Amino acid sequence: MNVLNNISEVKSILTDLRAKNLSIGFVPTMGALHQGHISLVEKAIRENDVVVVSIFVNPTQFNDKTDLKNYPRTPEKDIKLLEDSGIHYIFMPSEQEIYPEPDTRIFEFGQLDKVMEGAHRPGHFNGVAQVVSKLFDIVKPHRAYFGQKDFQQLAIIRQMVRLLDLKIEIISCPIVREKDGLAMSSRNLLLEPEVRKSAPLIYKTLSDAQKKVGELMVNDLIVWVERNINKDPNLSVEYFSLANSQNLQPVNNWTDSDSIIGCIAVRAGKIRLIDNVYFK
Ligand code: AMP
Repeated sequence: MNVLNNISEVKSILTDLRAKNLSIGFVPTMGALHQGHISLVEKAIRENDVVVVSIFVNPTQFNDKTDLKNYPRTPEKDIKLLEDSGIHYIFMPSEQEIYPEPDTRIFEFGQLDKVMEGAHRPGHFNGVAQVVSKLFDIVKPHRAYFGQKDFQQLAIIRQMVRLLDLKIEIISCPIVREKDGLAMSSRNLLLEPEVRKSAPLIYKTLSDAQKKVGELMVNDLIVWVERNINKDPNLSVEYFSLANSQNLQPVNNWTDSDSIIGCIAVRAGKIRLIDNVYFK
């Protein structure tokens, strides 16, 4: 396994590999790696000849500068974990390497980024699109792997690939959870011990809510979920949305869409956590 820092190096190595007709799988990450990331890596290894993982904490997707400053960074541990996983290249660029000058591009996602994370984190998905489009251009993978944990991000990336007419297959991977149900996240490292004990209530509530679909109307279920989580003093729901899983627009009735996703963001102490499950 090689750790690369320069765009020119990555481009030249991968151009050679592509010329040999080897398939390239790509897993973009912000590091502080856990088994959720590794599940993407393992799928990429199974499906491609060469696997590249990028580790870059992208400043343009952080609307909250304190969040950027506090974001966990564990580069040595990440390198060790990836070495054990059997990938071929880590791309770990500096901020200067990715943004030698400010990226002023604005992406148009229509209604897709006007809801949920897009509504609560202004500019977040534009920043995601900026960095992922740059990384796609550098790596030019055949396939790129993203987790369903960031459900809206997956929809945004698919839309970006369509907008830019890229020939990259976007592969979505299921959410990996801790034994107690909490969705794995780099930010879990930042949870205070007491808050960490409360955090599994998020997934527990979503799982219980799935069983209430026949019993409660959409809006009543939203209220039930919010109340059930908010009764824990360490947790506060920022939003819970039941939405059409294709366009992410909220539904009013269970019959409004064939496939309904429930997406939630919760303040857990000082940390913001997201999760989602299908309701239909
Ligand atoms: P991040 O480092 O948080 O930007 O995540 C990098 C990739 O890993 C994204 O595609 C995430 O959706 C994915 N990911 C993060 N946590 C999980 C998880 N618990 N299960 C599955 N995928 C995940």
